[in-house]
Amino acid sequence: MAATIGAPRVLLRRLRETMALPEGGEVKLARIVVDIAANMVAEVCSIYLRRRDESMELVATEGLNPDAVHNTHLARGEGLVGLVASRAEAVNLPEARDHPSFSYRPETGEEIYHSFLGVPVQRQGRVIGVLTVQNRTQRNYAEEEVEALQIVAMVLAEMIASDQLEPSRAGNRSVGQVVGGVPLSDGIAHGHVVLHVPRVAVDTLIADDPDHEEKRLSDAIEKLRATIDDMLSRGDVARAGEHRDVLEAYRMFAHDRGWIRRMNEAVATGLTAEAAVAKVQNETRARVVNQTAPFLRERFNDLNDLSNRLLRMLTGRSTAVEEDLPDDTILVAHSMGPAELLDYDRQKIRALVLEEGGHASHVAIVARALSLPAVGQADSILNKLDTADPVVVDAEAGEIHIRPSADVISGYKDKERLKAQREARYAKIKDQPAKTKDGVEIELLMNAGLMVDLPHLHETGAAGIGLFRTEFQFMIASTFPRPDEQQRMYAEVLDAVGDKPVVFRSLDVGGDKVLPYLRSSHEENPALGWRAIRMALDRPALLRTQLRALMRAAQGREVRVMLPMVSDVAELEGARELIDKETRHLVLHGYTLPKRLLLGVMIEVPALVWQLDRLLPLVDFASVGSNDLLQFLFAADRTNLQVAQRFDSLSYPVLRVLGEVATKARTHDVPVTLCGEMAGEPIEAMALVALGFRSISMAPSSIGPVKAMIRSLELASVEQSLHYALSGDVGDIRQHLQGFAATHDVEI
Ligand code: PEP
Ligand code: MG
Repeated sequence: MAATIGAPRVLLRRLRETMALPEGGEVKLARIVVDIAANMVAEVCSIYLRRRDESMELVATEGLNPDAVHNTHLARGEGLVGLVASRAEAVNLPEARDHPSFSYRPETGEEIYHSFLGVPVQRQGRVIGVLTVQNRTQRNYAEEEVEALQIVAMVLAEMIASDQLEPSRAGNRSVGQVVGGVPLSDGIAHGHVVLHVPRVAVDTLIADDPDHEEKRLSDAIEKLRATIDDMLSRGDVARAGEHRDVLEAYRMFAHDRGWIRRMNEAVATGLTAEAAVAKVQNETRARVVNQTAPFLRERFNDLNDLSNRLLRMLTGRSTAVEEDLPDDTILVAHSMGPAELLDYDRQKIRALVLEEGGHASHVAIVARALSLPAVGQADSILNKLDTADPVVVDAEAGEIHIRPSADVISGYKDKERLKAQREARYAKIKDQPAKTKDGVEIELLMNAGLMVDLPHLHETGAAGIGLFRTEFQFMIASTFPRPDEQQRMYAEVLDAVGDKPVVFRSLDVGGDKVLPYLRSSHEENPALGWRAIRMALDRPALLRTQLRALMRAAQGREVRVMLPMVSDVAELEGARELIDKETRHLVLHGYTLPKRLLLGVMIEVPALVWQLDRLLPLVDFASVGSNDLLQFLFAADRTNLQVAQRFDSLSYPVLRVLGEVATKARTHDVPVTLCGEMAGEPIEAMALVALGFRSISMAPSSIGPVKAMIRSLELASVEQSLHYALSGDVGDIRQHLQGFAATHDVEI
């Protein structure tokens, strides 16, 4: 029985001999299952492969009814095979029929078997098949046997991936499929698929000389670290800022002691260096597969990327990166680390599509930095397309059109052309004032949070930065950014904006903005929980460090600080005390104070709207965070797509509240802006100026469209029209305003 590493060695030799045969994949698979069954002393050995529709197809069997081959398809998650696939880990049962997942298939004749051992066949984070053995007796497969079958599954995976074993590639290649996903980085592109699957085949698994393998592994790790250091030292401007932070995190992983220890232990059991890397990679994947915490997945993606790099170094094999890429490459991957994306030639990549990947993932941040359209969470897309398939990626709608019809392609080409025309028009007015036809100037500011956003300030002609989300620096880092790192970033932002204003919002973490390294307890309602100013006042060191970094970065310049999620005047007073303490500290230590420090609050908690008479005299400015204000006003979680769209931001209650804020700010002579998403929609922006807002802050891409709207608008008419709508009964206010824009030639 395969109780030692020796048994797989015999089996692996048999597998190699089989692979050398001139026969096709079907025959080879049939031989392989016979060999495995014999070696494991099992009556049954079967191989199932995942198909495009996510089902598991029986492709070879020794022991089950041969007629079931290609006829037995288990739906996603069905049966014990489905369980192995969905858990991505071994399932070992002395009595299979007692398990709730057992699914009886009469065509296979498997009811006579009791014990069951199934292991996943995995490639690059995906379960591509399942390998099973079964016995008539109620057997407990030993841990060594499970391990032996896993090693065989690993070899099988490599063989399947390199197309040596695929019995038939007939799948569902329908024309015109659309797969939905989540937009990660804006844009539209069409081109041809390149699958980012680093095809690193590990075919030498058993070491002849373990000492030599240990040395190979440690040399490869050294080389890997040197490559990352090299990337870090390339230092071109494009890679400054958060790129740097991402790569720093990467470097940290390359020094992860646990990871290196586990690989060394695997080498000590007799595996080759590359097999050890692959084994640890698979184990980590199995642990992560059921994890939903974005941080753990992100960390896994980084480690996975590093493992692939190590494998390439150890096997000397190349990846798509080094191959000739088409000039219109649409890169498709299950997941990807940021450094992997940076390896590709940006000139040849038109878009990126990932099966995983959230908006805040490292690779998404890098895609945005490269202005590369990207869509994430494209469910099972790898099963639906092949290399060189034509695709259209609409990263605005979050859609991927696979093998699109000629009509769809030409529709998208028109869309791309129109977009280019619109952008050319916006570029023309970028240095023109954002002034209405009746001469009222509106301040159009942009929102930012990363160093890569800064060039947009000049590209769009924004009047300044109305909201700098400082938490982004914290969110992409792997540990708390040190005070000097914070200071460096703030100084760079201040340098970049020059004479234009920038409002730094103090750390707005908690809620959906999670810092992996900041321990916090589980909250049932995080959006209403311990976040932003609440956390800052409970942990004053956090806010004080940030304030100190900001004040020191100012170097005698003016600095504006804005507090998020204030719900009570007392919180503002608490923050003011901390600022005073920091000021005294800086004076005491001989630092130059900022020329002045302007303090503002965000109005995003409804309760604050009824405290404006007390609050406004105490602040230098205010900014409405309409994203949060509206989610609280309508009790509709902004991150839950099922409810987030249920209210209209141009409805009566919203406009009344916002109108109240604008009026109070004017009464108290306090500058007010609005920096939520609605500021970036031309029709919403039109309503805001009609309500009295003279300053709004938005995503950089909205500056052009909103400025075009302002320049085509007569303020007095829209004020009158909105006033009429709010005091009378016009029904749908959005429709009313759309009608106004249409009849008054306002560009919305
Ligand atoms: C808001 O709530 O409107 C806002 C601008 O802040 P954030 O989106 O970062 O919560
Ligand atoms: Mg907010």
